[in-house]
This record gives sequence, structure tokens and C-alpha cells, in this order.
Amino acid sequence: MSKIRHICGLSGGKDSTALALYMRDRVPDMEYVFCDTGRELQETYDYLALVEAFLGTRITYLNPKQDFDHWLDVFGNYLPSPKARWCTKLLKLKPFEAYIGDDEVISYVGIRADENRTGLISSKPNLTTVFPFKEDGIDYDGVMRILEESGIGMPPYLSWGRTHSGCFFCFFQSKYEWVRLLEVYPDQFAEAEKYETIDPATGTLFTWMEDMPLETLRDPGVQADVKQKHFVRQEWLKSRKGNKRLVETFGGIEVEEPSNNGCLICHL
Ligand code: SF4
Repeated sequence: MSKIRHICGLSGGKDSTALALYMRDRVPDMEYVFCDTGRELQETYDYLALVEAFLGTRITYLNPKQDFDHWLDVFGNYLPSPKARWCTKLLKLKPFEAYIGDDEVISYVGIRADENRTGLISSKPNLTTVFPFKEDGIDYDGVMRILEESGIGMPPYLSWGRTHSGCFFCFFQSKYEWVRLLEVYPDQFAEAEKYETIDPATGTLFTWMEDMPLETLRDPGVQADVKQKHFVRQEWLKSRKGNKRLVETFGGIEVEEPSNNGCLICHL
């Protein structure tokens, strides 16, 4: 009988990083993988290099056979969205499935005990998915404790207002996150803008946000409005939650929990 493989997927995010560290000594023959779209922020690649050092083992980078631009062309410039998430399937899920092949695999996923997240998980019959944080009752505070006590700290994106790992142009980000991307990584914002088009025949807009092109966020007045609404929302959330979980202070930095459900492969 062939040996069961143990695989922990990393996204460059805090939960999957904490899970990798949590499992390091529990499953010594764990394989660590990262599905690389090639469109992550450089800081994510740098953080993953740090994770490798803390794990004391290599992370295998899985690359899709064809990149984002190839598939965008196939989809007729139809940008992915929460309702049409072709990018996750083709750039993350398929490379992962190709990597495991027909082997019996246990896949470790970092959904926390305080989450009800669902998302794209492979349904291959030879794959069993387990959720150690759920099983062991590890919640948001527990994840933060693992990152803090290990010494690795948080992924850098959390320090400047982004809530997710994943592609820098990910449509799951809020308007506030787009504004912060413009401020912190203007070149990546400009690159994301180049993907937005108008179909000359129909006038249909292909934009990352549902209701406006990214260019709109270059207006200082719009930026101020987006920030104002963001901070008002944060205050409201703090008052409702008693300043628990949605905004926490970690290492002197306010860390905001994502306001939407990203995907399990990209955003853990
Ligand atoms: S990070 Fe966002 S844009 Fe990138 S593959 Fe995942 S869902 Fe798609």
C-alpha cells in the first residue's frame, strides 16, 4: 500500500502560516506547498522565504501551466469576480490537484475554530481535508499567539491595511484596500488598472470592482471618502464587538479581520 502523503498549503497569509508552524513538529513528513500565480506582492514571497527558515524545510512552489494573462485571454477579458472565480480554479486548485495526482493525501487547511468559512476545496476522492485549528479549538487569538510566540510575526500586508494574501489585484479586496495598495504599491495599482477595459462593441466595463473603475480611486476626494467610511465602519465594528476580534492590536499594529470571504486556497 502506498504511503499517505501529508500536505499543508500555504498562501502567505497568517492562518496558513500559523498552521504550518503548528503542524511542524506534529507531522514531521509534512509537505508544504504554495500555489504561485506569479501575481503576489514581493513582500509575500519574502515572507514565505522567512516561513521556510522557521519550518526548516523547503516550500514547494506550484505554478500553473498557463498564467493569469493566458486564461484572461481565454475568458475574453472577462475579469474574475466572486461569482466567476475562474482564477482560483485554474491558477490554484488545478496545480494543487496535479501535484497530488492519484496519491492518498491528507490536506491540512487553516480554517480557525471561530470561522464558518467555506470555499473552493478539491473534491478529489483520494484527498481527505482536515482542519486542525477547528479540531483543537484554535481561534483568532490562538493564531496570533502562535505567530507571536514563534517569533515570525505577522505577514507584512496586515500592517498597512490589507486583509488578505493573494494576487495584488484580487477582486476580494475592499475599496479601502485598493486605496492603500495605491499608496503603498503604486506600480502594482497601475498594473491592476491596465487589466480594466471597455468592450467597444457593447460598452461593457470589465473592472475589478463591481461599481467603479480603479481610476476613480486616484481622485483625492474619493480616497478621503473611502477612508472616512472605512474608519466609521471600524469604529462601529469595535463598538459592536467590544473591540474584540474584528480589530485587534498585535505587536502594536491594528489588525483588521477580512470583511468578506476570500477563498480557502488564496486567503488563509
Ligand atoms: S488571490 Fe484573488 S485574484 Fe488571485 S487567484 Fe485567488 S481569488 Fe483569484
